[in-house]
Amino acid sequence: MVSFNIHGVPVSNGIAIGTSHLISNALLEVVRYDIKDTKIDLEIKRFKKALAKVKNELNRIKKQLLVDSNSQFVPFIDTHLMLLCDKNISDEPIHSIKNERCNAEWAIKIQLDLIIERFNEIEDPYIKERKHDVVQVVERVIKVLLGHQRQRINFKNESSIILVAQDISPADTLQFKNHKYGAFITEMGGANSHTAILARSLNIPSIVAVRNAKKLIKNNDTLIVDGNQGIVIINPSFAILDEYQYKQNLWKIEQKKLIKIRNVRCKTLGNETISLHANIEIPEDIKYVKENNADGIGLFRTEFLFMNRPALPDEEEQFRIYKSVAKSMGNLPVVIRTLDSGADKNTAADNNKKSNSALGLRAIRLCLSEPHLFTTQLKAILRASAFGNIKILIPMLSSLQELRQTKMLIERAKQSLKNSKIKFNDKILVGGMIEVPAVAINADIFANELDFLSIGTNDLVQYTLAIDRTDDSVSHLYNSLHSAVLSLIDNTIKAGKKYNKEVAICGEMAGDPKLTKLLLGMGLTHFSMHPASILIVKKQVLGSDPKKIKIKANKILRSIEPDNIENLIQDINK
Ligand code: PEP
Ligand code: MG
Repeated sequence: MVSFNIHGVPVSNGIAIGTSHLISNALLEVVRYDIKDTKIDLEIKRFKKALAKVKNELNRIKKQLLVDSNSQFVPFIDTHLMLLCDKNISDEPIHSIKNERCNAEWAIKIQLDLIIERFNEIEDPYIKERKHDVVQVVERVIKVLLGHQRQRINFKNESSIILVAQDISPADTLQFKNHKYGAFITEMGGANSHTAILARSLNIPSIVAVRNAKKLIKNNDTLIVDGNQGIVIINPSFAILDEYQYKQNLWKIEQKKLIKIRNVRCKTLGNETISLHANIEIPEDIKYVKENNADGIGLFRTEFLFMNRPALPDEEEQFRIYKSVAKSMGNLPVVIRTLDSGADKNTAADNNKKSNSALGLRAIRLCLSEPHLFTTQLKAILRASAFGNIKILIPMLSSLQELRQTKMLIERAKQSLKNSKIKFNDKILVGGMIEVPAVAINADIFANELDFLSIGTNDLVQYTLAIDRTDDSVSHLYNSLHSAVLSLIDNTIKAGKKYNKEVAICGEMAGDPKLTKLLLGMGLTHFSMHPASILIVKKQVLGSDPKKIKIKANKILRSIEPDNIENLIQDINK
Protein backbone atom coordinates (compact mmCIF):
# COMPACT_ATOMS: atom_id res chain seq x y z
CA MET A 1 0.00 0.00 0.00
CA VAL A 2 1.34 3.44 -0.87
CA SER A 3 2.01 5.70 2.06
CA PHE A 4 1.76 9.47 1.72
CA ASN A 5 1.22 12.61 3.80
CA ILE A 6 -1.30 15.40 3.50
CA HIS A 7 -1.31 18.66 5.40
CA GLY A 8 -3.84 20.96 6.99
CA VAL A 9 -4.22 23.48 9.76
CA PRO A 10 -3.70 21.92 13.20
CA VAL A 11 -6.45 22.88 15.64
CA SER A 12 -6.07 20.48 18.51
CA ASN A 13 -2.87 18.90 19.77
CA GLY A 14 -1.97 15.28 20.27
CA ILE A 15 -1.29 12.26 18.12
CA ALA A 16 -3.88 9.70 17.08
CA ILE A 17 -3.32 6.44 15.29
CA GLY A 18 -6.37 4.68 13.94
CA THR A 19 -8.67 3.79 11.10
CA SER A 20 -10.42 6.27 8.88
CA HIS A 21 -14.17 6.62 8.75
CA LEU A 22 -15.44 8.88 6.00
CA ILE A 23 -18.52 10.90 6.81
CA SER A 24 -20.49 11.27 3.65
CA ASN A 25 -22.30 14.24 2.16
CA ALA A 26 -24.96 12.08 0.65
CA LEU A 27 -26.76 14.92 -1.10
CA LEU A 28 -23.77 15.56 -3.31
CA GLU A 29 -23.60 11.95 -4.40
CA VAL A 30 -27.07 11.50 -5.85
CA VAL A 31 -27.21 10.71 -9.56
CA ARG A 32 -30.20 9.88 -11.72
CA TYR A 33 -30.60 6.57 -13.47
CA ASP A 34 -33.54 4.94 -15.25
CA ILE A 35 -35.54 2.14 -13.72
CA LYS A 36 -37.00 -0.48 -16.07
CA ASP A 37 -40.81 -0.84 -15.99
CA THR A 38 -40.49 -4.31 -14.55
CA LYS A 39 -38.36 -3.01 -11.66
CA ILE A 40 -40.54 -0.05 -10.60
CA ASP A 41 -42.29 -1.97 -7.83
CA LEU A 42 -38.96 -3.15 -6.49
CA GLU A 43 -37.66 0.43 -6.47
CA ILE A 44 -40.71 1.61 -4.54
CA LYS A 45 -40.18 -1.20 -2.06
CA ARG A 46 -36.54 -0.15 -1.67
CA PHE A 47 -37.67 3.40 -0.97
CA LYS A 48 -40.24 2.32 1.63
CA LYS A 49 -37.69 0.10 3.30
CA ALA A 50 -35.28 3.03 3.58
CA LEU A 51 -37.98 5.18 5.19
CA ALA A 52 -38.73 2.43 7.70
CA LYS A 53 -35.05 2.04 8.48
CA VAL A 54 -34.60 5.75 9.15
CA LYS A 55 -37.71 5.73 11.33
CA ASN A 56 -36.31 2.88 13.43
CA GLU A 57 -32.99 4.63 13.62
CA LEU A 58 -34.57 7.89 14.86
CA ASN A 59 -36.64 6.04 17.44
CA ARG A 60 -33.53 4.28 18.66
CA ILE A 61 -31.66 7.60 18.98
CA LYS A 62 -34.60 9.08 20.86
CA LYS A 63 -34.59 6.18 23.32
CA GLN A 64 -30.84 6.54 23.82
CA LEU A 65 -31.14 10.29 24.42
CA LEU A 66 -33.66 9.62 27.16
CA VAL A 67 -31.42 6.95 28.72
CA ASP A 68 -28.45 9.35 28.61
CA SER A 69 -30.54 12.17 30.19
CA ASN A 70 -30.14 14.24 27.04
CA SER A 71 -33.87 14.80 26.73
CA GLN A 72 -33.38 18.39 25.55
CA PHE A 73 -32.53 16.96 22.10
CA VAL A 74 -35.69 14.80 21.92
CA PRO A 75 -37.93 17.49 20.34
CA PHE A 76 -35.36 17.71 17.54
CA ILE A 77 -35.72 13.98 16.84
CA ASP A 78 -39.51 14.20 17.14
CA THR A 79 -39.57 16.86 14.44
CA HIS A 80 -37.56 14.60 12.17
CA LEU A 81 -39.90 11.69 12.84
CA MET A 82 -42.84 13.89 12.00
CA LEU A 83 -41.23 15.10 8.76
CA LEU A 84 -40.50 11.55 7.75
CA CYS A 85 -44.23 10.80 7.76
CA ASP A 86 -45.12 13.94 5.82
CA LYS A 87 -46.58 12.99 2.45
CA ASN A 88 -44.14 15.31 0.67
CA ILE A 89 -41.37 13.04 1.81
CA SER A 90 -43.09 9.70 2.11
CA ASP A 91 -45.54 9.74 -0.87
CA GLU A 92 -44.41 12.21 -3.51
CA PRO A 93 -41.15 10.41 -4.34
CA ILE A 94 -43.20 7.25 -5.01
CA HIS A 95 -45.17 9.13 -7.68
CA SER A 96 -41.90 10.29 -9.24
CA ILE A 97 -40.48 6.77 -9.28
CA LYS A 98 -43.65 5.60 -11.05
CA ASN A 99 -44.11 8.51 -13.44
CA GLU A 100 -40.52 9.34 -14.26
CA ARG A 101 -39.08 5.84 -13.89
CA CYS A 102 -36.21 7.21 -11.87
CA ASN A 103 -34.25 5.77 -8.98
CA ALA A 104 -35.44 6.37 -5.42
CA GLU A 105 -32.47 8.59 -4.41
CA TRP A 106 -33.20 10.89 -7.32
CA ALA A 107 -36.94 10.90 -6.62
CA ILE A 108 -36.51 12.08 -3.05
CA LYS A 109 -33.71 14.52 -3.97
CA ILE A 110 -35.88 16.33 -6.54
CA GLN A 111 -38.69 16.39 -4.00
CA LEU A 112 -36.27 18.00 -1.53
CA ASP A 113 -35.33 20.65 -4.11
CA LEU A 114 -39.03 21.47 -4.54
CA ILE A 115 -39.58 21.69 -0.78
CA ILE A 116 -36.56 23.98 -0.37
CA GLU A 117 -37.90 26.24 -3.11
CA ARG A 118 -41.23 26.48 -1.28
CA PHE A 119 -39.51 27.16 2.04
CA ASN A 120 -37.52 29.97 0.46
CA GLU A 121 -40.74 31.67 -0.55
CA ILE A 122 -42.14 31.65 2.99
CA GLU A 123 -42.00 35.01 4.76
CA ASP A 124 -42.11 33.72 8.32
CA PRO A 125 -38.45 33.43 9.27
CA TYR A 126 -39.01 30.76 11.89
CA ILE A 127 -40.80 28.41 9.52
CA LYS A 128 -38.24 29.19 6.82
CA GLU A 129 -35.49 27.95 9.08
CA ARG A 130 -37.16 24.55 9.41
CA LYS A 131 -35.94 23.64 5.94
CA HIS A 132 -32.68 22.50 7.55
CA ASP A 133 -34.60 19.80 9.38
CA VAL A 134 -36.09 18.62 6.09
CA VAL A 135 -32.64 18.51 4.51
CA GLN A 136 -31.27 16.46 7.38
CA VAL A 137 -34.13 13.95 7.25
CA VAL A 138 -33.89 13.55 3.49
CA GLU A 139 -30.14 13.14 3.74
CA ARG A 140 -30.63 10.30 6.21
CA VAL A 141 -32.97 8.53 3.79
CA ILE A 142 -30.55 9.03 0.90
CA LYS A 143 -27.69 7.62 2.92
CA VAL A 144 -29.65 4.46 3.60
CA LEU A 145 -30.55 4.20 -0.09
CA LEU A 146 -26.93 4.65 -1.08
CA GLY A 147 -25.95 1.97 1.38
CA HIS A 148 -23.82 4.26 3.50
CA GLN A 149 -23.02 3.39 7.04
CA ARG A 150 -25.16 5.47 9.32
CA GLN A 151 -23.83 8.79 10.58
CA ARG A 152 -24.49 7.58 14.07
CA ILE A 153 -21.23 5.85 14.49
CA ASN A 154 -21.36 3.13 17.03
CA PHE A 155 -17.95 1.59 17.09
CA LYS A 156 -16.74 -0.70 19.81
CA ASN A 157 -13.44 1.08 20.05
CA GLU A 158 -14.23 4.68 19.26
CA SER A 159 -10.79 5.94 20.20
CA SER A 160 -9.28 4.17 17.20
CA ILE A 161 -11.70 5.83 14.78
CA ILE A 162 -10.60 8.89 12.84
CA LEU A 163 -13.48 10.81 11.34
CA VAL A 164 -12.89 12.37 7.93
CA ALA A 165 -15.48 14.89 6.74
CA GLN A 166 -15.85 17.67 4.24
CA ASP A 167 -16.96 19.94 7.05
CA ILE A 168 -18.46 19.46 10.47
CA SER A 169 -20.87 22.04 11.79
CA PRO A 170 -20.54 23.26 15.38
CA ALA A 171 -23.88 21.54 16.01
CA ASP A 172 -22.51 18.18 14.81
CA THR A 173 -19.31 18.64 16.76
CA LEU A 174 -21.41 19.25 19.83
CA GLN A 175 -22.88 15.78 19.45
CA PHE A 176 -19.36 14.32 19.45
CA LYS A 177 -19.09 15.38 23.08
CA ASN A 178 -20.85 12.16 24.01
CA HIS A 179 -18.15 10.15 22.23
CA LYS A 180 -14.43 9.72 22.42
CA TYR A 181 -13.21 9.42 18.85
CA GLY A 182 -9.51 9.24 18.11
CA ALA A 183 -9.29 12.36 15.97
CA PHE A 184 -11.03 14.26 13.24
CA ILE A 185 -10.03 15.78 9.96
CA THR A 186 -12.07 18.15 7.82
CA GLU A 187 -11.49 19.46 4.33
CA MET A 188 -12.82 22.89 5.25
CA GLY A 189 -12.71 25.28 8.20
CA GLY A 190 -10.37 27.74 9.85
CA ALA A 191 -8.27 27.27 13.00
CA ASN A 192 -10.54 29.54 15.00
CA SER A 193 -13.91 28.47 13.68
CA HIS A 194 -16.30 27.24 16.33
CA THR A 195 -15.90 23.73 15.00
CA ALA A 196 -12.16 23.97 15.71
CA ILE A 197 -12.81 25.43 19.15
CA LEU A 198 -15.13 22.55 19.97
CA ALA A 199 -12.51 20.12 18.69
CA ARG A 200 -10.06 21.55 21.19
CA SER A 201 -12.60 21.23 23.93
CA LEU A 202 -13.03 17.54 23.01
CA ASN A 203 -9.31 17.24 23.62
CA ILE A 204 -8.70 15.02 20.61
CA PRO A 205 -6.17 15.75 17.85
CA SER A 206 -7.85 17.52 14.97
CA ILE A 207 -6.83 19.11 11.70
CA VAL A 208 -8.97 21.32 9.48
CA ALA A 209 -8.46 22.59 5.92
CA VAL A 210 -7.01 19.26 4.75
CA ARG A 211 -7.69 19.76 1.05
CA ASN A 212 -9.17 16.77 -0.78
CA ALA A 213 -8.97 14.60 2.33
CA LYS A 214 -12.08 12.71 1.29
CA LYS A 215 -10.67 11.98 -2.14
CA LEU A 216 -7.28 10.87 -0.87
CA ILE A 217 -8.39 8.86 2.15
CA LYS A 218 -10.50 5.73 1.77
CA ASN A 219 -12.62 4.10 4.45
CA ASN A 220 -10.56 1.86 6.76
CA ASP A 221 -7.21 3.33 5.78
CA THR A 222 -4.68 3.37 8.60
CA LEU A 223 -4.04 6.98 9.56
CA ILE A 224 -1.69 8.87 11.81
CA VAL A 225 -3.04 12.28 12.77
CA ASP A 226 -0.38 14.59 14.13
CA GLY A 227 -2.47 17.38 15.63
CA ASN A 228 0.67 19.24 16.70
CA GLN A 229 2.04 19.62 13.18
CA GLY A 230 -1.14 19.40 11.10
CA ILE A 231 0.02 16.28 9.25
CA VAL A 232 -2.04 13.24 8.27
CA ILE A 233 -0.04 10.16 7.27
CA ILE A 234 -2.04 7.72 5.20
CA ASN A 235 -1.16 4.02 5.39
CA PRO A 236 2.20 4.59 7.11
CA SER A 237 5.05 2.08 6.93
CA PHE A 238 5.86 0.02 10.02
CA ALA A 239 8.88 2.21 10.73
CA ILE A 240 6.77 5.40 10.70
CA LEU A 241 4.10 3.72 12.79
CA ASP A 242 6.73 2.77 15.38
CA GLU A 243 8.07 6.30 15.43
CA TYR A 244 4.63 7.80 15.99
CA GLN A 245 3.69 5.23 18.61
CA TYR A 246 6.79 6.38 20.47
CA LYS A 247 5.81 10.07 20.03
CA GLN A 248 2.28 9.29 21.13
CA ASN A 249 3.55 7.66 24.32
CA LEU A 250 5.79 10.65 25.05
CA TRP A 251 2.78 12.93 24.56
CA LYS A 252 0.69 10.85 26.97
CA ILE A 253 3.50 10.90 29.56
CA GLU A 254 3.72 14.71 29.27
CA GLN A 255 -0.05 14.98 29.79
CA LYS A 256 0.13 12.76 32.86
CA LYS A 257 2.96 14.82 34.33
CA LEU A 258 0.80 17.93 34.12
CA ILE A 259 -1.73 16.41 36.51
CA LYS A 260 0.85 16.87 39.27
CA ILE A 261 0.36 20.65 39.18
CA ARG A 262 -3.43 20.41 39.32
CA ASN A 263 -3.64 21.51 42.94
CA VAL A 264 -0.70 23.91 42.91
CA ARG A 265 -1.70 27.58 43.35
CA CYS A 266 -1.35 29.41 40.07
CA LYS A 267 1.15 32.21 40.63
CA THR A 268 4.15 33.66 38.86
CA LEU A 269 7.68 33.54 40.22
CA GLY A 270 6.93 37.06 41.46
CA ASN A 271 4.13 35.60 43.61
CA GLU A 272 1.33 37.24 41.66
CA THR A 273 -1.81 35.10 41.56
CA ILE A 274 -3.17 34.45 38.09
CA SER A 275 -6.74 33.25 37.53
CA LEU A 276 -7.23 30.44 35.07
CA HIS A 277 -10.88 30.06 34.17
CA ALA A 278 -12.58 27.61 31.84
CA ASN A 279 -14.70 28.06 28.72
CA ILE A 280 -17.69 25.73 28.49
CA GLU A 281 -20.36 25.05 25.90
CA ILE A 282 -22.74 22.72 27.70
CA PRO A 283 -23.28 21.87 31.40
CA GLU A 284 -21.66 18.46 30.91
CA ASP A 285 -18.32 20.28 30.41
CA ILE A 286 -18.26 21.01 34.15
CA LYS A 287 -16.60 17.65 34.76
CA TYR A 288 -13.55 18.80 32.72
CA VAL A 289 -13.58 22.13 34.56
CA LYS A 290 -13.30 20.21 37.84
CA GLU A 291 -10.80 17.71 36.49
CA ASN A 292 -8.45 20.59 35.67
CA ASN A 293 -9.28 22.56 38.80
CA ALA A 294 -10.22 25.81 37.05
CA ASP A 295 -10.71 28.92 39.18
CA GLY A 296 -14.16 29.43 37.73
CA ILE A 297 -15.98 29.59 34.42
CA GLY A 298 -14.83 32.57 32.37
CA LEU A 299 -17.08 31.94 29.39
CA PHE A 300 -20.25 29.89 29.15
CA ARG A 301 -21.13 29.96 25.43
CA THR A 302 -24.88 29.69 25.96
CA GLU A 303 -25.74 29.58 22.26
CA PHE A 304 -24.86 25.88 22.27
CA LEU A 305 -27.98 25.30 24.37
CA PHE A 306 -29.98 26.70 21.48
CA MET A 307 -28.51 24.34 18.85
CA ASN A 308 -29.73 21.01 17.51
CA ARG A 309 -33.33 21.71 18.39
CA PRO A 310 -36.36 23.03 16.57
CA ALA A 311 -37.58 25.34 19.36
CA LEU A 312 -35.79 27.77 21.64
CA PRO A 313 -35.26 26.80 25.27
CA ASP A 314 -37.76 28.68 27.44
CA GLU A 315 -36.97 30.68 30.59
CA GLU A 316 -37.56 27.74 32.90
CA GLU A 317 -35.28 25.38 30.99
CA GLN A 318 -32.52 27.98 30.77
CA PHE A 319 -32.92 28.86 34.45
CA ARG A 320 -32.50 25.22 35.46
CA ILE A 321 -29.32 24.90 33.40
CA TYR A 322 -27.72 28.15 34.60
CA LYS A 323 -28.66 27.35 38.18
CA SER A 324 -27.13 23.86 38.01
CA VAL A 325 -23.89 25.26 36.54
CA ALA A 326 -23.72 28.01 39.18
CA LYS A 327 -24.43 25.58 42.00
CA SER A 328 -21.87 23.08 40.81
CA MET A 329 -19.19 25.81 40.93
CA GLY A 330 -20.04 26.90 44.51
CA ASN A 331 -18.59 30.37 45.18
CA LEU A 332 -16.39 30.37 42.11
CA PRO A 333 -17.35 32.83 39.38
CA VAL A 334 -19.49 31.71 36.44
CA VAL A 335 -19.49 34.17 33.55
CA ILE A 336 -22.58 33.54 31.45
CA ARG A 337 -22.34 35.02 28.01
CA THR A 338 -25.69 35.98 26.54
CA LEU A 339 -26.69 34.36 23.26
CA ASP A 340 -23.96 34.75 20.63
CA SER A 341 -25.92 33.23 17.78
CA GLY A 342 -25.19 33.90 14.15
CA ALA A 343 -22.19 33.69 11.79
CA ASP A 344 -21.01 30.07 11.98
CA LYS A 345 -23.18 29.27 15.01
CA ASN A 346 -26.69 28.66 13.77
CA THR A 347 -29.48 28.16 16.22
CA ALA A 348 -33.23 28.29 16.10
CA ALA A 349 -32.84 31.99 17.01
CA ASP A 350 -31.29 32.92 13.66
CA ASN A 351 -34.23 34.01 11.62
CA ASN A 352 -32.69 35.77 8.73
CA LYS A 353 -29.96 33.68 7.16
CA LYS A 354 -29.04 36.35 4.63
CA SER A 355 -27.81 38.84 7.19
CA ASN A 356 -26.42 36.13 9.35
CA SER A 357 -22.78 36.62 8.50
CA ALA A 358 -19.97 37.50 10.88
CA LEU A 359 -20.75 41.13 10.11
CA GLY A 360 -24.49 40.70 10.25
CA LEU A 361 -27.25 40.28 12.78
CA ARG A 362 -25.23 38.31 15.27
CA ALA A 363 -24.75 38.18 19.05
CA ILE A 364 -25.96 41.29 20.91
CA ARG A 365 -27.31 42.80 17.69
CA LEU A 366 -29.58 39.81 17.22
CA CYS A 367 -30.64 39.89 20.88
CA LEU A 368 -31.48 43.59 20.78
CA SER A 369 -33.55 43.04 17.65
CA GLU A 370 -35.45 40.26 19.46
CA PRO A 371 -36.09 41.77 22.91
CA HIS A 372 -38.42 38.96 23.91
CA LEU A 373 -35.80 36.30 23.21
CA PHE A 374 -33.16 38.36 25.05
CA THR A 375 -35.35 39.14 28.05
CA THR A 376 -36.19 35.46 28.43
CA GLN A 377 -32.50 34.68 28.71
CA LEU A 378 -31.74 37.64 30.98
CA LYS A 379 -34.49 36.63 33.39
CA ALA A 380 -33.25 33.06 33.46
CA ILE A 381 -29.68 34.23 34.20
CA LEU A 382 -30.86 36.68 36.86
CA ARG A 383 -32.96 34.04 38.59
CA ALA A 384 -29.99 31.66 38.60
CA SER A 385 -27.82 34.41 40.10
CA ALA A 386 -29.51 33.74 43.46
CA PHE A 387 -27.75 30.36 43.52
CA GLY A 388 -24.11 31.16 42.84
CA ASN A 389 -21.53 33.69 41.72
CA ILE A 390 -22.94 34.50 38.28
CA LYS A 391 -21.84 37.40 36.07
CA ILE A 392 -23.36 38.47 32.75
CA LEU A 393 -21.18 38.91 29.66
CA ILE A 394 -22.37 40.71 26.52
CA PRO A 395 -20.89 39.47 23.22
CA MET A 396 -19.78 41.58 20.27
CA LEU A 397 -20.57 45.06 21.54
CA SER A 398 -19.76 47.68 18.96
CA SER A 399 -21.25 50.89 20.36
CA LEU A 400 -22.24 52.59 23.58
CA GLN A 401 -25.86 52.73 22.42
CA GLU A 402 -25.93 48.93 22.30
CA LEU A 403 -24.52 48.78 25.79
CA ARG A 404 -27.08 51.26 27.11
CA GLN A 405 -29.98 49.41 25.48
CA THR A 406 -28.66 46.18 26.96
CA LYS A 407 -28.44 47.70 30.41
CA MET A 408 -31.97 49.01 30.06
CA LEU A 409 -33.25 45.54 29.18
CA ILE A 410 -31.35 44.08 32.15
CA GLU A 411 -33.01 46.66 34.42
CA ARG A 412 -36.42 45.80 32.97
CA ALA A 413 -35.82 42.10 33.51
CA LYS A 414 -34.83 42.85 37.10
CA GLN A 415 -37.94 44.93 37.64
CA SER A 416 -40.16 42.20 36.29
CA LEU A 417 -38.59 39.69 38.70
CA LYS A 418 -38.98 42.15 41.57
CA ASN A 419 -42.66 42.58 40.69
CA SER A 420 -43.07 38.82 40.85
CA LYS A 421 -41.07 38.70 44.11
CA ILE A 422 -38.48 36.36 42.59
CA LYS A 423 -35.03 36.38 44.19
CA PHE A 424 -31.91 37.35 42.22
CA ASN A 425 -28.60 39.13 42.77
CA ASP A 426 -29.41 42.80 42.22
CA LYS A 427 -25.70 43.62 42.20
CA ILE A 428 -24.88 41.14 39.44
CA LEU A 429 -21.81 42.27 37.48
CA VAL A 430 -22.23 43.03 33.78
CA GLY A 431 -19.20 42.75 31.53
CA GLY A 432 -18.65 43.20 27.82
CA MET A 433 -16.67 41.30 25.25
CA ILE A 434 -14.01 43.24 23.43
CA GLU A 435 -14.22 41.68 19.99
CA VAL A 436 -14.80 44.61 17.67
CA PRO A 437 -11.78 46.87 17.00
CA ALA A 438 -13.92 50.01 17.50
CA VAL A 439 -14.54 48.95 21.08
CA ALA A 440 -10.93 47.94 21.72
CA ILE A 441 -9.84 51.39 20.50
CA ASN A 442 -12.40 53.00 22.83
CA ALA A 443 -11.69 50.51 25.61
CA ASP A 444 -11.44 53.37 28.13
CA ILE A 445 -15.07 54.35 27.61
CA PHE A 446 -16.27 50.76 27.91
CA ALA A 447 -14.09 50.04 30.95
CA ASN A 448 -15.72 53.01 32.61
CA GLU A 449 -19.25 51.81 31.86
CA LEU A 450 -18.86 48.07 32.44
CA ASP A 451 -17.99 45.99 35.51
CA PHE A 452 -15.42 43.87 33.68
CA LEU A 453 -14.04 43.26 30.20
CA SER A 454 -13.31 40.02 28.42
CA ILE A 455 -11.31 40.09 25.20
CA GLY A 456 -12.64 37.71 22.57
CA THR A 457 -9.47 37.43 20.55
CA ASN A 458 -10.97 34.98 18.06
CA ASP A 459 -13.30 37.63 16.73
CA LEU A 460 -11.00 40.53 17.50
CA VAL A 461 -8.39 39.06 15.12
CA GLN A 462 -11.08 38.28 12.54
CA TYR A 463 -12.47 41.82 12.56
CA THR A 464 -9.14 43.63 12.87
CA LEU A 465 -7.51 41.80 9.98
CA ALA A 466 -10.70 41.26 7.95
CA ILE A 467 -10.09 37.51 7.87
CA ASP A 468 -13.10 35.21 8.02
CA ARG A 469 -12.15 32.87 10.84
CA THR A 470 -14.01 29.97 9.22
CA ASP A 471 -12.52 30.29 5.74
CA ASP A 472 -9.64 27.91 5.09
CA SER A 473 -8.53 29.83 2.00
CA VAL A 474 -7.41 32.76 4.17
CA SER A 475 -6.51 30.90 7.35
CA HIS A 476 -2.78 31.43 6.69
CA LEU A 477 -3.43 35.18 7.05
CA TYR A 478 -5.16 34.83 10.43
CA ASN A 479 -2.50 36.10 12.81
CA SER A 480 -3.08 36.65 16.52
CA LEU A 481 0.37 38.18 16.77
CA HIS A 482 -0.25 40.93 14.25
CA SER A 483 1.04 44.15 15.79
CA ALA A 484 -2.37 45.82 15.41
CA VAL A 485 -4.05 42.99 17.33
CA LEU A 486 -1.46 43.13 20.11
CA SER A 487 -1.83 46.86 20.36
CA LEU A 488 -5.64 46.56 20.75
CA ILE A 489 -5.19 43.96 23.48
CA ASP A 490 -2.64 46.19 25.19
CA ASN A 491 -5.01 49.15 24.99
CA THR A 492 -7.80 47.11 26.58
CA ILE A 493 -5.62 45.81 29.42
CA LYS A 494 -4.46 49.37 30.15
CA ALA A 495 -8.05 50.68 30.14
CA GLY A 496 -8.99 48.01 32.67
CA LYS A 497 -6.10 49.03 34.93
CA LYS A 498 -7.06 52.71 34.65
CA TYR A 499 -10.62 52.09 35.79
CA ASN A 500 -9.71 49.25 38.13
CA LYS A 501 -11.80 46.77 36.18
CA GLU A 502 -10.91 43.14 35.66
CA VAL A 503 -9.79 42.29 32.12
CA ALA A 504 -9.71 38.70 30.90
CA ILE A 505 -8.96 37.05 27.59
CA CYS A 506 -11.42 34.29 26.74
CA GLY A 507 -10.46 33.76 23.09
CA GLU A 508 -8.17 30.96 21.96
CA MET A 509 -5.05 33.04 22.62
CA ALA A 510 -5.62 32.53 26.36
CA GLY A 511 -5.22 28.77 25.99
CA ASP A 512 -2.11 28.86 23.80
CA PRO A 513 0.86 28.14 26.07
CA LYS A 514 3.21 29.83 23.60
CA LEU A 515 1.45 33.12 24.33
CA THR A 516 1.08 32.85 28.11
CA LYS A 517 4.28 34.72 28.95
CA LEU A 518 3.59 37.47 26.44
CA LEU A 519 0.10 38.04 27.85
CA LEU A 520 1.37 37.94 31.44
CA GLY A 521 4.09 40.42 30.45
CA MET A 522 1.38 42.69 29.03
CA GLY A 523 -0.27 42.68 32.45
CA LEU A 524 -3.04 40.13 31.92
CA THR A 525 -4.09 38.38 35.13
CA HIS A 526 -7.28 36.55 34.05
CA PHE A 527 -7.26 33.86 31.39
CA SER A 528 -10.21 31.76 30.26
CA MET A 529 -9.72 28.76 28.00
CA HIS A 530 -11.04 25.32 27.21
CA PRO A 531 -10.45 23.16 30.27
CA ALA A 532 -7.94 20.89 28.51
CA SER A 533 -5.44 23.78 28.24
CA ILE A 534 -5.52 24.89 31.87
CA LEU A 535 -2.67 22.77 33.18
CA ILE A 536 -0.27 23.47 30.33
CA VAL A 537 -0.92 27.21 30.69
CA LYS A 538 -0.51 26.90 34.47
CA LYS A 539 2.90 25.32 33.89
CA GLN A 540 3.88 28.39 31.89
CA VAL A 541 2.63 30.77 34.59
CA LEU A 542 4.53 28.92 37.32
CA GLY A 543 7.77 29.41 35.39
CA SER A 544 7.25 33.11 34.59
CA ASP A 545 9.48 35.79 36.01
CA PRO A 546 7.38 39.00 35.82
CA LYS A 547 10.34 41.36 35.53
CA LYS A 548 11.90 39.52 32.61
CA ILE A 549 8.70 38.92 30.68
CA LYS A 550 7.51 42.50 31.07
CA ILE A 551 10.63 43.82 29.34
CA LYS A 552 10.35 41.21 26.60
CA ALA A 553 6.61 41.79 26.13
CA ASN A 554 7.25 45.51 25.70
CA LYS A 555 9.79 44.71 23.04
CA ILE A 556 7.22 42.56 21.22
CA LEU A 557 4.64 45.35 21.46
CA ARG A 558 7.07 47.78 19.88
CA SER A 559 7.86 45.44 17.02
CA ILE A 560 5.98 45.56 13.74
CA GLU A 561 7.92 42.98 11.70
CA PRO A 562 6.11 39.61 11.81
CA ASP A 563 9.38 37.62 11.65
CA ASN A 564 10.82 39.66 14.44
CA ILE A 565 7.70 39.10 16.56
CA GLU A 566 8.01 35.34 16.02
CA ASN A 567 11.67 35.44 17.12
CA LEU A 568 10.81 37.52 20.15
CA ILE A 569 8.05 35.06 21.10
CA GLN A 570 10.61 32.26 21.01
CA ASP A 571 12.89 34.37 23.16
CA ILE A 572 10.25 35.15 25.81
CA ASN A 573 9.52 31.42 26.08
CA LYS A 574 13.16 30.41 26.62
C1 PEP B 1 -13.92 35.12 20.81
O1 PEP B 1 -14.40 35.64 19.81
O2 PEP B 1 -12.70 35.18 21.10
C2 PEP B 1 -14.77 34.37 21.73
C3 PEP B 1 -14.32 33.91 22.88
O3 PEP B 1 -16.05 34.14 21.35
P1 PEP B 1 -16.44 33.02 20.26
O4 PEP B 1 -15.21 32.24 19.92
O5 PEP B 1 -17.50 32.17 20.86
O6 PEP B 1 -16.93 33.85 19.12
MG1 MG C 1 -16.53 35.86 19.69
